[in-house]
Amino acid sequence: MTVPVSIMWFRQDLRVKDNPALNAACDEGKIIPIYIYDDNAPDGRALGGASNWWLHHSLNSLNDRLNGHLKVFKGDPKALIPALMEAYEAKGIYWNRCYEPWQINRDKAIKKQLLDNEFEAHSSNGSLLWEPMKVLKKDGTPYRVFTPYYRKGCLNVEPPRYPQAPPARITYADVDDSKNSKTYRPCGIDALNLLPSLDWDSEFKNHWKPGEDGAADNLQNFIEHSARKYKDARDIPSMNGTSHLSPHLHFGEVSPNQAWYAIKDRFETTEDKSIDTYLSELGWREFSYYLLYHFPTIPNKNFNDKFDKFNWRRDAKSLKAWQKGQTGIPIVDAGMRELWQTGYMHNRVRMIVGSFLVKNLLISWHEGERWFWDCLVDADLASNTAGWQWVAGTGADAAPYFRIFNPLLQGEKFDKQGKYVRKYCPELADLPDKYIHKPWDAPPVIAKDAGVHLGDNYPKPIVDLKASRQRALDAFQALKE
Ligand code: FAD
Repeated sequence: MTVPVSIMWFRQDLRVKDNPALNAACDEGKIIPIYIYDDNAPDGRALGGASNWWLHHSLNSLNDRLNGHLKVFKGDPKALIPALMEAYEAKGIYWNRCYEPWQINRDKAIKKQLLDNEFEAHSSNGSLLWEPMKVLKKDGTPYRVFTPYYRKGCLNVEPPRYPQAPPARITYADVDDSKNSKTYRPCGIDALNLLPSLDWDSEFKNHWKPGEDGAADNLQNFIEHSARKYKDARDIPSMNGTSHLSPHLHFGEVSPNQAWYAIKDRFETTEDKSIDTYLSELGWREFSYYLLYHFPTIPNKNFNDKFDKFNWRRDAKSLKAWQKGQTGIPIVDAGMRELWQTGYMHNRVRMIVGSFLVKNLLISWHEGERWFWDCLVDADLASNTAGWQWVAGTGADAAPYFRIFNPLLQGEKFDKQGKYVRKYCPELADLPDKYIHKPWDAPPVIAKDAGVHLGDNYPKPIVDLKASRQRALDAFQALKE
């Protein structure tokens, strides 16, 4: 009897453990593991620079785990998959579902085409604790507010799936690609050219280890050292108080189920607010996917269409200063430089820099979303869009328009001794704590002693915080009226 051959199509599930599609494919018989770099993504949705860097390393790590059997292609999956099914004489294909609107449409089209041609196509949930289509209010409409969604719609209804063991054995089908037409031959990881040409990423490798092992290390470290302190430590950007799992979750090197149960199983007997808070942050990730699924226009349009009339400022000079961490507001600059250097920014600081862009500078949240998309190693359409709409006050369950973060007070509250600012703005490092978040208030002799020369080695603030806050309040108030 011949053993059936299936294609295992890896996408945002670059792992071997707790991979439902991989397990199902291996149960069926021999597998051909593939990854396709989809060069047919819609405008603005192709992976950004930092994501490409991550993907390069993550694919190498997955390929190692698969003993070099991963076949990597570049092209349009709608054309490639049917051709590969024929060429490899595969009986079926297995994948874990993706949730970006264009991916859903693409996958539906592929599934239909395969089924019409009598191939099997199996999809599983490998990326979410609760899939969006299964969670609805009693009246059949989707939730719009996080707490009832999470507590009533998710937690009260059913616990997340427990992680699956990896396949006991993976048997690879022996295939000869030289027979494939040239267009359908694997190109290999290096030929994707995912690494940046300049050495922008030189620091990334000191902060990250893409791949399943790196994800497991971060989860383990978090559980051992930070989970019990999470509730308070998560707001302090100079501390290693969060799990740093976001890029690993985005690329599926760890499933949310693995994270959820690693925490639950370890801290089962403790009544700990930190544990609850951490699990609910995983819940926010779910909610972001939920919103994207039920309201697929939110990457492009305000969730609350009242804001469609808002007159955002076009100010290329200020936008550039924000992107480069040269606004003259230390906590904002530190955050933007952390992003540039490490491909990551602490959540508290994402909110501060976001509020500064959208409210103090009155620049559209789309500009911020685009910059983050390119620079974040965890760039994720669902969480990024939800995060930006939340900050702008245009989203579901968003911060109200009158909540304008004061970056000075935020800095003084969450970076008391200025450790974070000193790290990313070394030109301010010798200022006393009192002035670290407001160098413009430092008496000349103190500034001189600290080597700080505003307008020379560190910018003067590009806006007056008080006046720009009032300008934003007036603009948002006018919209309300
Ligand atoms: P932890 O605090 O350890 O949290 C654990 C996990 O929960 C995270 O890995 C993440 O998957 C999830 N999570 C935590 N906070 C949020 C949140 N507010 N929304 C959704 N999920 C959350 N997150 C991304 O993964 N990709 C993005 O592109 C992204 N863009 C953002 C843009 C803005 C303007 C804002 C305010 C937030 C954004 N976030 C984004 C959410 C959040 O900042 C990051 O998930 C978090 O900082 C990642 O660090 P961590 O893994 O150490 O988080």
